[in-house]
Amino acid sequence: MTSEVERTAGEQTRTAGEAARVAGEAARRRTFAVISHPDAGKSTLTEALALHARAITEAGAVHGKAGRRGVASDWMEMEKARGISVTSAVLQFAYRGCVLNLLDTPGHADFSEDTYRVLAAVDCAVMLIDAAKGLEEQTRKLFDVCAHRGIPVITFVNKWDRPGREALELLDEIEREFGLRPTPVTWPVGYAGRLRGLVDAREPERMLRYARTPGGAHAATEEVVPGGVAAREEGDDWTQAVEELELLRADGAEHDREAFLDGRTTPVFFGAAITNIGVRPLLDAVVDMAPPPGPRELAGGGTRAVDAPFSGLVFKVQANMDPAHRDRIAFVRVCSGVFERGTTVTRAASGRPFATKYAHSVFGQDRSMVETAYPGDVVGLVNASALRVGDTLHSPGSPAVFPPMPTFAPEHFMVARPVDISRSKQFRRGIAQLDEEGVVQVLVSELRGEQSPVLAAVGPMQFDVVAARMAGEFSAPVRLEALPYSLARATDATGADGLNRSRLVKGEALTRVRDKTHLALFPDRWQASNFERAFPDAPLESLLAAH
Ligand code: GDP
Repeated sequence: MTSEVERTAGEQTRTAGEAARVAGEAARRRTFAVISHPDAGKSTLTEALALHARAITEAGAVHGKAGRRGVASDWMEMEKARGISVTSAVLQFAYRGCVLNLLDTPGHADFSEDTYRVLAAVDCAVMLIDAAKGLEEQTRKLFDVCAHRGIPVITFVNKWDRPGREALELLDEIEREFGLRPTPVTWPVGYAGRLRGLVDAREPERMLRYARTPGGAHAATEEVVPGGVAAREEGDDWTQAVEELELLRADGAEHDREAFLDGRTTPVFFGAAITNIGVRPLLDAVVDMAPPPGPRELAGGGTRAVDAPFSGLVFKVQANMDPAHRDRIAFVRVCSGVFERGTTVTRAASGRPFATKYAHSVFGQDRSMVETAYPGDVVGLVNASALRVGDTLHSPGSPAVFPPMPTFAPEHFMVARPVDISRSKQFRRGIAQLDEEGVVQVLVSELRGEQSPVLAAVGPMQFDVVAARMAGEFSAPVRLEALPYSLARATDATGADGLNRSRLVKGEALTRVRDKTHLALFPDRWQASNFERAFPDAPLESLLAAH
């Protein structure tokens, strides 16, 4: 009797101790992504961050550009041919006692729904802006997803070593277009192209000065200069920077943690990633301002605390096209508890066990085993053919289901047909599989028939994936033909019917196989406006908001 009581008490103590340890590990995690338009400097910034922090694992590539350090990957033929990485890389850094997980958001031609889905796995985003270009298309799209998911955004204005826009003008643009109040934390001394240093709004009496090495090939060193010295040596540049900061402060543009976490404000940093200027303050902000993993919303209401038993979210599934490794890797973000390799977890959707014998922390060509992972960390599970994007995994005795992943508005549409009509069974099976994996969204209509489904994707490269996998994996080569649409909105049966009969509106309505949503496709937004005028009672909804 006594021993039983003691054992129970002992187990509870162990559990409480374990929970405290997990909570401690979670508290020192920061899981984030950089959102930017191609060429804004994401790879350069990532490398600069790695200069300051100690890389715990290096995921082969920052992201692909032929000839750049560490980006070669022979994982997929397509990667070789294009010199870009299809695999989402995760970098893990140690910095100031924290563990930073930086998830790559693929851009360029490999921009796809996966890029958006990465944002389901982060707690914060760094929005990288080119000082000369301001807000660009891809940044806007990714920002919309952050805003929708309530992900706080830190802004870094890059390339201040080059001629560009005025700092205040860039802040105005962010506020006007994103409805996000900028709260500058560092402020440039010297206009774009004449960067002398930075003032930190929290310590405005001193200047951070950077000594550039000739040619700028190496990281600039940071030197702290008292305000008096800065005033003497930098003259008007210093005075102007201090005055502008004072004006902004008087206007209330000060960092406020609650407003930032609430998505109402964005702390802003300036710098030049290429010479490492202003990168340390940004890294400090990730540690000091970005939130650690917190309780996560559950599908049926309520939340899952970080110190609850293990749970994780599958946010990306990557099929390996290399015939020598025909496996599937599921990328899982740990949401609660401890992930331990070798344990068996439960797939919530089916209630079936999943063995985690092959868990990796590194993706791409270089895979290394991960033994333990905590909330905020990402693990790659191989042989994961049973797992799907949006799946929840949990500890067998402690069920949890996270809300489904939203699907995003596709912008590219192609009709798929089997090259060889006698392979139509394999064709149907392959298309259904790719739909289920979320490689593309599959749309059908009575008009077109099931043999001619329309494949819809966020980025055009998904069609290359489809073509390669249909031929290689399902032995059903496809012919793809582009449709002249670029905009998809959700509508209802009445709207769909009206659009398909209308002679006034250019467009077509199809049904998404996965969730039976009616999608109205238009060549451009003017035709979408025509639809709204012609069918004022039919809804036309943004797909981002559709769950
Ligand atoms: P990504 O496409 O966003 O990953 O951009 P990259 O990191 O590849 O950078 C695009 C180009 O901008 C490259 O030529 C970089 O050398 C250059 N670049 C990146 N950061 C800076 C910067 O701070 N200053 C200047 N002058 N060039 C930069």
